[in-house]
Amino acid sequence: MTIKFIGTGSGIISEKRFHSSILLETEKSNLLIDVGDGISKALLFQKIPFCNIQNILITHSHPDHLSGIASLIMQMKLQERLNPLNIFIPTELLQSLNTLLKIHYLFPENLKFKLNLVGCDFNIKNKLENNFYFIFMKNSHITEEKIINHIYKNIGFVSASVFIHCEDMNIAYTSDIGKVEDLYLFDDLRCNLFISESTHISNEEIYRAFIKSGSEKLILTHIENEMEIYDWYQKLTELQRNSIIIAEDGMSLDLKELFASG
Ligand SMILES: [Zn+2]
Ligand SMILES: [Zn+2]
Repeated sequence: MTIKFIGTGSGIISEKRFHSSILLETEKSNLLIDVGDGISKALLFQKIPFCNIQNILITHSHPDHLSGIASLIMQMKLQERLNPLNIFIPTELLQSLNTLLKIHYLFPENLKFKLNLVGCDFNIKNKLENNFYFIFMKNSHITEEKIINHIYKNIGFVSASVFIHCEDMNIAYTSDIGKVEDLYLFDDLRCNLFISESTHISNEEIYRAFIKSGSEKLILTHIENEMEIYDWYQKLTELQRNSIIIAEDGMSLDLKELFASG
């Protein structure tokens, strides 16, 4: 299985990094996690054919995670895609996604491929193929919207971290989180790989949670402050640095090789 970092930036637009997005690929299947503003161009840069993407997962509806979905589907339509596409999103956000696509003139009836929008409840296994599933875990990243929840009753405001099981490996992906406790959602799940955002939480807190999780490798993404993260990394011991990877756009890792090399 390979994991490719399509984008590794934060919500702030940057010359160096596209917004955070990850592509997981097995021999039979693949899963694109998050489709923020500019995702089509980011995929083009990484030479990923749009029509090869089988499954898309959206963790929450901030623009750096969701806003590229309509233009990506439009590109697929223009390329006359025929194979089905599944989009997985927390159930609370399903209706909003439906509306978003329709106001972009993307109607299922006008597409030559089957578009499956799937609302997923938290803490439930969602199977993509044999030995490949994911579970949405609710985190506290989306909080300010609670204040206006009573005005916009029809819009769900939730945010998910993701646990992924693929080819006997367990992966924790925080996506965007709100507080330190969210780093510990994966306790007891015995993850081999811990992937964390690094914008809303300190590197020290992330590293502490990674050690407690018993995972073998930590990958930091959703990078906002380049100087700060590399400065922090340089101050670590060699042993600590060996277990940490700071993601960059286009970085591709074969997970079997990564864990075989230690
Ligand atoms: Zn973000
Ligand atoms: Zn966010």
